Amino acid sequence: MLKEMDLTGRVAVITGGGRGIGREIALAMAECGADIALAARTEEELESVKQEVIEKGKRCIALRTDVSDSKQVDNLVENTISEFGKIDIMVNNAGALHFLPLVPIPDQVPNPARLSRTPDSRISDDEWQKIMDVNVNGVMYGCRAVAPHMIDRGYGKIINISSSNGAQGVPYCAPYNVSKAAINMLTRVLALEWASYGVTVNGLAPGSFHTEMTNAVWSDAKSVEKHIDAIPVKRGGKLRDLGIFAAYLASEASDYMTGQVVYIDGGRTAV
Ligand code: NAP
Repeated sequence: MLKEMDLTGRVAVITGGGRGIGREIALAMAECGADIALAARTEEELESVKQEVIEKGKRCIALRTDVSDSKQVDNLVENTISEFGKIDIMVNNAGALHFLPLVPIPDQVPNPARLSRTPDSRISDDEWQKIMDVNVNGVMYGCRAVAPHMIDRGYGKIINISSSNGAQGVPYCAPYNVSKAAINMLTRVLALEWASYGVTVNGLAPGSFHTEMTNAVWSDAKSVEKHIDAIPVKRGGKLRDLGIFAAYLASEASDYMTGQVVYIDGGRTAV
């Protein structure tokens, strides 16, 4: 292993760590030596990933947390510090997606396999707010809860999971795309506020990866074909690649990098 990528002795909190991209990040960071605190709402999934981390020889705790509730995020940070004594790495990964037109559009029928519900009414205030609560507020709560501790210690690595949708217009994803664009700006602003305290803040923006969130795309042959056609490298991404890049952002190897959003998207945002 490159010594700059060694996370031995580091403690990482990963929201949305019970499956998909969060699970992969947890496993990659554990392989690089970090102890892990996993957070999400589904206990069984957290427990299952916790076992996988422990099998890699690292310590792991699973803390049931809804990131849209700021008190629960504060508790996540406090409980992790009381268990491990510190937090070096915070990965704000938990996210939610709606696939719906903002209002019903005559003569335009989005792929029914992907829709979150029948598009016969406009996106409600609650539907819009839910995405903002998880994807924007949840990330801000994570940054806000952990930053004083990192600033005091003069060291910290914050990684916000964005999306290629934060840079590219994609129809029927208005709240999701707006939420990810907001995360990109939050990442830049906080990077500037905390740069002189040894705290870096970067964004990792995945393109197309098969997880529960995107299962509707990847399990429908017509959607897959259309989807892959829009990706320059003509395939979906490997989850492991995201874990490895997150481990780089969590390590000393990336100390000179802050305020950046990196797209791992098979070239989608280069178009
Ligand atoms: P996923 O498999 O659905 O995982 C989402 C994770 O977030 C789950 O662990 C889920 O656990 C957790 N979560 C959702 N709402 C939460 C809440 N209110 N509080 C706490 N945890 C919550 O999706 P994924 O693809 O791995 O997505 C992970 C991140 O990557 C998201 O931010 C997503 O926007 C981003 N992303 C994914 C792709 C892709 O192609 N898959 C592309 C670009 C960006 P519970 O439901 O148990 O809480």
